[in-house]
Amino acid sequence: MKLFTNRRRPYTFGPYPLEKVPRADAVPPTGTPPLPRAPRERSQMERGEAPAPAPHSVAASIAPYLAFLRELRDGDTAPLPGGLYFTPGQLSDNLKGSAYFLDAAMVGICPLSSEHYGGRNSGDGAGGGAGGASPLEGHRWAVVMLIEEGLGAEPGGPGDAWLKDSETARGILRGGEIACTLAGYIRRLGYFARAHFGTDSGVDLAPLIVAAGLGRWNGAGTAVVNPFLEEAYHACAVTTSMELAPDRPLSPVSGDGALRFRHPAHFLGLWGGKPGWKRLSGDHRPAHLGRFPLEKLKRRETPTTYISENVPRVPIRGSFFNRAIFGDLGDKAKAERGRFALKHPFAAAMAPVFMAFVPHQDGEVAPAPPPGTEDFRKNALDVKAACHFLDADVVGICRVPEYAWYSHDEDGQPVDADHEYAIVILIDQGFETMEGASGDDWISGAQSMRAYMRGAEITGVVARHIRGLGYSARAHTNRLSGVLHIPLILQAGLGELSRIGELVLNPFVGPRFKSAVVTTNMPLEVDRPIDFGLQDFCEKCLKCARECPCNAISMRSKVMFNGYEIWKPDAEKCARYRLTNLKGSACGRCMKMCPYNTEGLLKHRFWLWVAQMPFTRRFLARLDDWLGHGRRNTVKRWWLDLEVVDGKVVKPKGVNEHGLRSDFPVVPEKQKLALYPADLQPPPDFSEAWPVDRAEGLQRGRTAEKPSPMR
Ligand code: SF4
Ligand code: SF4
Repeated sequence: MKLFTNRRRPYTFGPYPLEKVPRADAVPPTGTPPLPRAPRERSQMERGEAPAPAPHSVAASIAPYLAFLRELRDGDTAPLPGGLYFTPGQLSDNLKGSAYFLDAAMVGICPLSSEHYGGRNSGDGAGGGAGGASPLEGHRWAVVMLIEEGLGAEPGGPGDAWLKDSETARGILRGGEIACTLAGYIRRLGYFARAHFGTDSGVDLAPLIVAAGLGRWNGAGTAVVNPFLEEAYHACAVTTSMELAPDRPLSPVSGDGALRFRHPAHFLGLWGGKPGWKRLSGDHRPAHLGRFPLEKLKRRETPTTYISENVPRVPIRGSFFNRAIFGDLGDKAKAERGRFALKHPFAAAMAPVFMAFVPHQDGEVAPAPPPGTEDFRKNALDVKAACHFLDADVVGICRVPEYAWYSHDEDGQPVDADHEYAIVILIDQGFETMEGASGDDWISGAQSMRAYMRGAEITGVVARHIRGLGYSARAHTNRLSGVLHIPLILQAGLGELSRIGELVLNPFVGPRFKSAVVTTNMPLEVDRPIDFGLQDFCEKCLKCARECPCNAISMRSKVMFNGYEIWKPDAEKCARYRLTNLKGSACGRCMKMCPYNTEGLLKHRFWLWVAQMPFTRRFLARLDDWLGHGRRNTVKRWWLDLEVVDGKVVKPKGVNEHGLRSDFPVVPEKQKLALYPADLQPPPDFSEAWPVDRAEGLQRGRTAEKPSPMR
């Protein structure tokens, strides 16, 4: 929760007011001080020694993921984009925005010189290449990034045993993910780039942090201190041949040589970004609770929308994005299916990272659960602490209803409903980037990909950890899932079904999230569904339906569909638009336009509380429009409009830059929505095109069953 808006703060400034810290013209002489060190385990990692984590620590489950990232540090460089020119300043801003989008806490840029070459562990250094030129030859610049520490557990409290000795591994994992993605992006723009993180760093990060204006040596010359995070950070970097605009080194923040920046405006968040007062950012809460006060929500036994006893299980083959692979939506959609969300080079750079995690969603289970892991409540709190610690934004747990399992997998093989519990995590796609976007422009695909990548990473680590404790567990991600996520998000108490249709809306992050799931047989205490008045609000609002560029969201009342009471959208129209969007990559405009897509200010929290009173909802829905919410805020626009065509980056032919469509006619009677219930879907193992029967779909839309008013 924030007190002050940051609507006028450029996204490329980052969440901390680094621009307020005094700067020097040159790096002060330092001699040869050692690398920063503070926690005992950090220096162990830096020496390349495997830490000896406490029993049950998730550090051991993170370690294989560091190895997956190691393989992605470097790669081939694409041809330089033709006909495109960006200044070093524009490129620097773009890289900073990209790193902040991936959750770096601070980013600085400096020239790379021989004094920064480390090559201790990785063979990257000036003489490090095996018998050849250094891998850093031609690299003249460094993008240096700091990663904030994750939420911690109270000593002896829930999650403590799991999180013990894990912070260093978590920081390296996050740094590795960010650095590998950023390096991949730069290479797609035609420049050399290499990622450096943890023990896989070919550069000395400490002097780079100083040179990039992110910290200063302490008086003893033993550690680099950041003015906001002090020594509680992890560092990573990307070195590159791309010419960039350097930042200036820091001066002491006051005349007496102080290294810590203290200012009431930062403490309260008046300058925008993250407040220094941890109570406002949720950083004071223990990891098992997470940053959002889910425990204060009203709970009920069943979701606020009816789900019948007889929901049919459906095959993966039936989803429209899978149908597109087989040509059910025609040649154009089939051709675009493999690239629609990856058309922007930044989104494309996330794909290898995401895909490196997917093969490890399942694996060997340790022989027998150790004593002390049969406690349902303790396990649930440990799991939630681990997910929040690894940067899940919201976490809930439920039993997996039979209907939430797909009937058949991608190969047409039956799916075993073999786990009793689901751990459901939500990854926020980020308010500020959503503010700068139209929802269906060139950053939209990257917004999805970032959340999918992070979800795969977190659920992969947590599933691996649970398997290591002797319980079967499997991660389910956007790329490979045996379960439908929507019913699980509902049952785990993370939201209510919204008018957008196939989207559950959370009271804290609104509709702008992606989900990932772990199913397991580890005994877990489950959460109950929530009620925050959304059904009545969506009945009166309709903003998403008005703003959908292809009129796919229902303006009518709810219907019964495959056993669910739902505002059923025309999923075919939506899929076609996202797949074939010519002026952007994919689409998430409905998420952007929703009044629940808020900045998280205290005043927003107040209005959402007011929205729980039925008589205020129609007024609040109108107020959202009157205040102009949903317009693009160009101050928050940090990305470049780019498209990858045949492996080369080019300028796209157009950009979707919609404003508000307040005068668009909302006439439910005229809206044509096609519905495709289970009996209109192709057989689970049908490997050829099964063309969509739109005429029948429209007929089903006209005659859809209404929910019984008796329920
Ligand atoms: Fe409409 Fe885009 Fe939302 Fe699909 S994702 S329902 S096309 S706004
Ligand atoms: Fe509901 Fe309005 Fe959000 Fe649509 S835009 S999901 S109708 S609150």
